[in-house]
Amino acid sequence: MKEDFFGRRDAHALALGTACDTIFGPEWLTWELRTIRDELRMRGHDMDELNSQKLAAYKVAKTTIGPWVDMAIFENVGMVFNNRMPNVEIHQPLSVAECAVTVDCLRSSRIVTFTENVKKYIAACAADAEIMYLPDPLSFAMPYLCPPMYYCQEHGGLEKDDLVDGQCDLCVGRYEDGELIDAPIPGLEARGTNIVRFSQYDYAPIAQKYEALAVTDISGVQLDLTTVDIQVARLLDVNTYRKRKMSQLELQLGEIRTYA
Ligand SMILES: [Zn+2]
Repeated sequence: MKEDFFGRRDAHALALGTACDTIFGPEWLTWELRTIRDELRMRGHDMDELNSQKLAAYKVAKTTIGPWVDMAIFENVGMVFNNRMPNVEIHQPLSVAECAVTVDCLRSSRIVTFTENVKKYIAACAADAEIMYLPDPLSFAMPYLCPPMYYCQEHGGLEKDDLVDGQCDLCVGRYEDGELIDAPIPGLEARGTNIVRFSQYDYAPIAQKYEALAVTDISGVQLDLTTVDIQVARLLDVNTYRKRKMSQLELQLGEIRTYA
């Protein structure tokens, strides 16, 4: 590895982690941050504070499930994965692009399912940026950004759609005693089937246009000032940033293989 590998501003957290794996083997994941820094310095690698934090975030992702279950931890590692120094004093929400890169980084560490807590956080970041549709890798947060709903013709009401069997919660008495039973109560099995499902708003035009453009070379794309096009443009920016981080990572991993 080149001497300045650990001192670069654009060093990718996963590349730094992989470099440590190569140099020390897996045991460095149990070391204190200060020990890691000392061991690197002894091998001629200096590292600034932000890059130390990137290694700390990499460790958290490799050895805990914190970022998948706790939105504060998700936000903190997310800042670092995106080259920003976390500050415990102030709350600094991630942009949607940063959320996407954070999910990419976490996914390549381990496959864990995100809890509702983190999904809601990502949806809130999108709502804050007035983004109406979340493509891969954030699509799992979409039901929290744009909740699925249903209209029940039987009792004539609008409800949040979290149905597993497609039957209205109210009409089959699922909450009869205030507690959720995951099946219709006896005698009501045939009720509540006359429902119309929809989402809070229609994001299909944004999704379709974005998915079509995301796979093409976007430099030649002409977008208008319509709601759909403005949304698509924001998502393409997210995608561009995500791709840039990925190619940075590829380049740096290649460097580790070359110099290891
Ligand atoms: Zn109903």
